[in-house]
Amino acid sequence: MTHAAAAFEDAYGRPPEGVWHAPGRVNLIGEHTDYNDGLVLPLALPQGVSVAAARRDDGVLEVRSLQAAAAGHRVRVAELAPGAVAGWAAYPAGVAWALREHGVGGASLLIDSDLPQGAGLSSSAALECATALALCELYGAGPDRAELARLAQRAENEFVGVPCGIMDQSASLLCTAGHALLLDCRSGLSTQVPLALGEEWSLLVVDTRAPRALADGRYADRRAECEQAARLLGVAALRDVTDLPGALRALQAARRPRGLLRRSSGPDTAALQRRVRHVVTENHRVEAAVGLLRAGALGEVGALLTAAHLSLRDQFEVSWPQADTAVDAALRAGARGGRMVGGGFGGSVIVLTPADRAEAVRASIAAAYAERGWEAPAFLEAVPSPGARRLG
Ligand code: ADP
Ligand code: MG
Repeated sequence: MTHAAAAFEDAYGRPPEGVWHAPGRVNLIGEHTDYNDGLVLPLALPQGVSVAAARRDDGVLEVRSLQAAAAGHRVRVAELAPGAVAGWAAYPAGVAWALREHGVGGASLLIDSDLPQGAGLSSSAALECATALALCELYGAGPDRAELARLAQRAENEFVGVPCGIMDQSASLLCTAGHALLLDCRSGLSTQVPLALGEEWSLLVVDTRAPRALADGRYADRRAECEQAARLLGVAALRDVTDLPGALRALQAARRPRGLLRRSSGPDTAALQRRVRHVVTENHRVEAAVGLLRAGALGEVGALLTAAHLSLRDQFEVSWPQADTAVDAALRAGARGGRMVGGGFGGSVIVLTPADRAEAVRASIAAAYAERGWEAPAFLEAVPSPGARRLG
């Protein structure tokens, strides 16, 4: 019996009807491309969120989590509405809300997780997707996995109020073992790309332990800048920029005041140029990485990771000191490449290293942290794992 099933019995006094699991993810490459209609390449982690669940006939959704301090939350499914549920319970409640029109009703849920929260490994989507799969299977609801990803995203956007893209939920539901998922965030279409680490390679995820206190506002700023740049360039999204030098010139021209009294109100075009440079080159890096993976040249992807990091640091300006230090220390110890992952300003770093250097890479990062008096980083191995599934 899983831990979640045993805890469900303790909490609710009966066995669950099943246990479902959805993984966290780490995005190998393609950062801040999702909301620009671009490309991302996530893989599912072995770690994730498990939900033990059983239907109830009183129309109530009750949720408890072994990782939450509060006893639990109860709400009538019929009364679910954005704003009605606060805190972590909004994630599973939002999923029930999004699935209501598919015939999903009351349930008791017990949540257990081995995924760090708020580390950029998408515990929120894992929680949503495990809940979504549980509720769908309990109620025989029909959405396929791509649609389920959109419903879970809608729960996070509209019910929880977090403006995330579609990547996290797609990764959690659609990834397969031994593969990364190439996801086109415009079409929603996805392709499996072989990612075999074998004995030779290790993908290390470093939880940099940096607080993300200011993250939300600055993430929103970046999105707004990308939208502004796309408007100035006359494209639907930065995905559509095919001529980078031309786009940079066009933004430059947007700075020049065309009339009197147009002094300081124009956009910060130098910043917009940097944002565009990142997004456009990052989409190309994703395509290059996919090509290399299909060619079986995983080691060559390392240089792309490092290039992505420098672009995120210098052009998109979303890195943070612990991430820069971790990447530098990893490279010094023989890693092939590394980069910050997630929205930025805190979270995790991914490092590609020959397996026989992995120990030295960890030690190098830990030493660089200790030297600066920072809280020790946490490491986990990113082994490309299966997507969401029923455990029992
Ligand atoms: P990330 O998705 O990168 O981990 P988010 O801020 O998007 O970070 O999501 C983290 C939030 O998801 C937590 O603050 C909490 O509300 C919710 N969450 C994730 N895992 C759990 C869990 N096991 N139990 C309760 N809430 C959880
Ligand atoms: Mg999240």
